[in-house]
Parts: sequence; structure tokens; C-alpha cells
Amino acid sequence: LSSSSGPRVCIVGGGPAGFYTAQQLLKARQDAAVDVYERLPVPFGLVRFGVAPDHPEVKNVINTFTQTAQHERCSFHGNVNVGKDVTIDELRQAYHAVVLSYGAEGNRSMGIPGEDLPGVFSAKDFVGWYNGLPSNKELRPDLSCETAVILGQGNVALDVARILLAPVEMLKETDITQNALKALAGSKVRRVLIVGRRGPLQIACTIKELREMVNLPNSRADMLPADFEGIAEALKDLPRPRKRLTELMMKAAKEGGDDKAEKCWGFRFFRSPVEVIAGADGKRATGIRLALNKLEGSGESARAEVTGQMEDVDCGLIISSIGYKSIPIDPAVPFDPRRAIVPNEMGRVQDTAGLYCSGWVKRGPTGVIATTMNDSFDTARVLIQDMEAGKLDLSVNKPGAQAITALLQTRGVRTVLFSQWEKINAEEEKRGKFLGKPREKLLDVDEMLKIAWS
Ligand code: FAD
Repeated sequence: LSSSSGPRVCIVGGGPAGFYTAQQLLKARQDAAVDVYERLPVPFGLVRFGVAPDHPEVKNVINTFTQTAQHERCSFHGNVNVGKDVTIDELRQAYHAVVLSYGAEGNRSMGIPGEDLPGVFSAKDFVGWYNGLPSNKELRPDLSCETAVILGQGNVALDVARILLAPVEMLKETDITQNALKALAGSKVRRVLIVGRRGPLQIACTIKELREMVNLPNSRADMLPADFEGIAEALKDLPRPRKRLTELMMKAAKEGGDDKAEKCWGFRFFRSPVEVIAGADGKRATGIRLALNKLEGSGESARAEVTGQMEDVDCGLIISSIGYKSIPIDPAVPFDPRRAIVPNEMGRVQDTAGLYCSGWVKRGPTGVIATTMNDSFDTARVLIQDMEAGKLDLSVNKPGAQAITALLQTRGVRTVLFSQWEKINAEEEKRGKFLGKPREKLLDVDEMLKIAWS
């Protein structure tokens, strides 16, 4: 393979965008070789660390990614932090083209006083905790309070709400980490409020996630009738998906559900967080102050305007779910700090020939895996077009992974190959089997590495 003189492409990030871009490149060019570099020793990005444990069917894409990784013209190199262990310029020298598919590892902050108090978490960290992201293993959220407030109303917010309220029996046979399961089993959280700046017609979740909330055993919906004023009248003009979503929400708001349920959840619309309220000792969050809003305009583009009224909600757990955010990984790569993406045109990174991007770092942190697949296929097509139009100099041979792994070695960085990830995978499945789960994720990078290289 190393003697192949076809195009060599490097992909930065082993999540859906990386694997879908690789898949399409390998398919469209029979002479292309593709190497994927991933920061963690384990592949699959948010499919492993984002997608909720009770959505196993969503994780089936891992089978396709595995096929790509095992393709004879593809190689996977985990445990390589691009930007730190190796620079983008070094990669560009070793490859004909480099695709940035490194996702959105940062977090949008609320920018309000008190948001760093204990008891306040980002959804990113909270999700990382129950999904076994090594950097979140010490999170230990205190679940001894009765009310949790989630800020944001997208699918991630609903994932978090569902995990907080789901009966532990529903979770114990998933790949949720054992320590999260234990914490949730002892949780006192009985009420989850899901707060949004705008109204029911602007909510960002999809119907599947809403239906899961409605169907949660032992939980009923608790909403404010005032939030739904005028909504029934607006229904008829809504596009079909939004209409169905809104109807389901109104039904839940009206009927509530099982009166005997011990737990409840509800949307709180037209409210923006202004301050996290600290307890008397000032040491942890005990509530949140919300500004009441009114809507200016209508439909998707309606804006929330403050009314001047405030409302305090007592709660011991606050989770901000207002979005992920891409971060720059190398000063040599253009970055748009306002949009928090790598600026690009159809996946071609601005002003940088031979550099491309796909996935969340290309279009921002929204959209499901299928959206990411489509935009990754688009980037791969554009890259191939550029090859065929002679925009990438394919006449020079490029050394690819051979040069990069040698360089990494001089820096004391050893990579985890896909076959080595499979050892980690086998160990996780083995540990899971004892517990009646598909896998028990390893939480410690050193332990992962030990098993990978054993
Ligand atoms: P990522 O999945 O984040 O992959 C990026 C990869 O790059 C990661 O593996 C990361 O470790 C790696 N990386 C980062 N920095 C570097 C670096 N410097 N060097 C090397 N590698 C690096 N979609 C669905 O269809 N269904 C769902 O149920 C669903 N649930 C979700 C739940 C949550 C909480 C979240 C956040 C998202 C969910 N999504 C879901 C959306 C889906 O996860 C994304 O569309 C998709 O993962 C984006 O792919 P990506 O490859 O751009 O980013």
C-alpha cells in the first residue's frame, strides 16, 4: 500500500463526518488511500460519546464505519491529537489533501453570573459523563435535589431530561456507564423543566424525542397553559412535521398523563436565564433567575424580547444545553470565531488549496447523523472534482501515514490502529456481558492504551 502512487488523503477526526468522507473517497477513486487520525484511542466520535445509550439503533452506523476502517485502502490512527502532536502543515506536506472533520468539541456558555457554580453543568459534559467520555469521568453530578432545570429545548436537552427521569430498568441494559447508572439509581430528581427563550412553535426538538418524553413510564407532563395561547389557531398554517410536533406537545400539555406518576417534566417557554442563584453560603446553585420574554414576529424567525419581568425557580441541578461549538485546533487553519466553524465553500476551506472540511466543523453543530453523512459525501465529491480538474498536484508522490507515524514516534506519540481498537472493543464487550449490557466502556485513556497495545 505504501508504494501506491494514487492520491493520499488525510482525515482529521474519526466521527461520522470523517468516516463518511473516507467512505465516499474510497468508493469514488479506486486508487485513493485514506488515513483517519483521531484524538482518542477509540473511534466514532459522538456516536459513542453523544448519542443516548437508550438509542442503540442509531449506533448501528458503527458497522458501516468499521467496514470503512477495515477497507484495504484505509487506515485508522487513534491517539493522535492533531494540532498538538502533529500540525496541519505537516499533514499537508505528507498528503495530497487534508479533510478537517474534527467536530465541535467546545461548548457555548450562557454568559450569565453564577454559571460556574457547582450544580451547573453543560449538557456536553453531562452527556459525556453518562456516555463514558474519559474527560468527564470525574463529573459526579449531585442528583440529590428534586428539581433539575435544563436550558435549551433541542434533542440534546430532551436526551438529558429523559436520562434523568427514565426508570433505571430502562437504562440498565444499555451501554450507559455503570457509575452513571448507579448515580441515577440513587437520584432524587423528580421534576425536570426544559426552558426555552421562544415559544412552542419555535422549539428545536424532533417528534421522536418528544414522543419518548410523552411515553416515559412514571412521568407526567406538566406545562403552563398560558404558554400555549394562540397555538391552536396557528396549527393549520404549519408545515406538516412542525404541525405534528406541535399537536403532540399540545396533547401532552392538556392531558398531562398518569396522575399517579411520581415524576414530571415540562417545557417552560418564553424564558431566558439571567443568573444562577447561589445558596446562602454562596457555594452552590440553588436556583435560577429567568427573564420572561415576549415574541417579536412569528414562525421560525421570531425573536425573543425581554418584558422586564423575572421569575426565580428553585433547583439544585442546572444543565445548559444551548449548543456545542467548534474550536480552532491549529493557527495555520482559517477559523471564523463568530460562526465557530472553519470558513469554507462547499467544503473547500477558504484560501487554502488542498484543505477541506466536513461535518459539524464545516456547517456548525446541528443536524443528525444523516445530515452529516450528506454533507460529508458532498465534501468528498468536491475533493474528487478538484483532483480531476488538476487542482491538486497528484504527480508528486506523498508519503502519507508512513511519514506521519515516524514523525509522531520521534515525539513519543504512539498510535492506536483499528485492530488495536478492536482489542479495546472486545474488552468492553466482555465487561458488558457480565452486566447484561452491550458493553461497559473503559473510562480511562491509559487503560485503553494498555489494552490496545497488549
Ligand atoms: P463528531 O461526532 O464530534 O466527531 C469528531 C471527531 O473528531 C471525534 O471523534 C473527536 O474526538 C475527533 N477530534 C476532535 N478534535 C480532534 C483533533 N484535534 N485531532 C484529532 N481528532 C479530533 N444524531 C442522530 O442522528 N441521532 C441521535 O440520536 C443523535 N444524538 C445526539 C446526541 C448528542 C448529545 C449530540 C451532541 C449529537 C447527537 N446526534 C445525533 C448528532 C450526531 O452526533 C452528529 O451529527 C455527528 O456526530 C457529527 O459528526 P462529526 O464527525 O462532525 O463530529
